[in-house]
Amino acid sequence: MSALKIDIHSHFFPRITQAEAARLHPQRAPWLHTDGRHGQIMLGDKPFRPVHDVLWDPLRRIEHLDEQGLDIQVMCATPVMFGYDQPIERALPWAQLMNDRALEMAAVAPDRLKVLAQVPLQDIEAACCEASRAKDCGHVGVQIGNHVGDLDLDDAGLETFLHHCAKEGIPLLVHPWDMMGGERMRKWMLRWLVSMPAETQLGILSLILSGAFERLPESLRICFAHGGGGFAFLLGRVDNAWRHRDIVREDCPNLPSSYVKRFFVDSAVFDPRSLRLLVEVMGADRVMLGSDSPFPLGEQSIGAGVLEHPGLTDADKSLICAGNAREFFGI
Ligand SMILES: [Zn+2]
Repeated sequence: MSALKIDIHSHFFPRITQAEAARLHPQRAPWLHTDGRHGQIMLGDKPFRPVHDVLWDPLRRIEHLDEQGLDIQVMCATPVMFGYDQPIERALPWAQLMNDRALEMAAVAPDRLKVLAQVPLQDIEAACCEASRAKDCGHVGVQIGNHVGDLDLDDAGLETFLHHCAKEGIPLLVHPWDMMGGERMRKWMLRWLVSMPAETQLGILSLILSGAFERLPESLRICFAHGGGGFAFLLGRVDNAWRHRDIVREDCPNLPSSYVKRFFVDSAVFDPRSLRLLVEVMGADRVMLGSDSPFPLGEQSIGAGVLEHPGLTDADKSLICAGNAREFFGI
């Protein structure tokens, strides 16, 4: 089948100089060192991650979309850009600079490149204001990290931010970051392989088990990255715990699985069996194509996992590859 393809989970990193980054924090704010088509995200004088020009060059990005047969790609910040641990006096102008740079990238092909804003989530009032400003400027939604220090999505302030986004019609992508596990996750990319899916699971369960979904309006559009982490596979365990332990039911009046209709996930699970389970648990109307491009852990042939899946109907594929994203982001 030939289907419209919209990728809702991809990253950018703008050409930020070391001097611009130093205004947020000289050692901890990221900037981009480039050498032709290759580059390095730097933290102060230390290399953080090798990258290539699809990440920052909008013309190369469009070439990449063409190579991948993608109609539209939604780009969001690389999480190292969040700056949640910095004072708001510096973090707000930083977020605004990142958001303005994102729009400059998208301006090369505004029909095909869409961008999500970042907000200084350590200050809820400023975060709400920046989310609204970004919406007015042309961002199609906001990406947030799944936590701010020790505060998860059930924190009263973060819940206020979610209410604001629901009221203003701002869709949200929740991305895991600042991964748990510390030194135990030091090797073999364990932060990505163990901590990231656990962070996402924690984000989703924070909203379900705290009863936040009971208070948040059904109009809230919220999507979790990486297929929702471990959520689909672990849902039986959560329901079982809710049935048998009163401390799990304490703040959550309904069976956890009854809340799957309140959020979306992307399709970045990299295995047809996992995708089958994900679609069975969430429903084809709650999964959106997401690649995590252009990083090496992203889907290299974007959309192949969905479009070549033997167990999904053409109608499912069409919803996952484009229909759901059109409705979710209004694009
Ligand atoms: Zn990502």
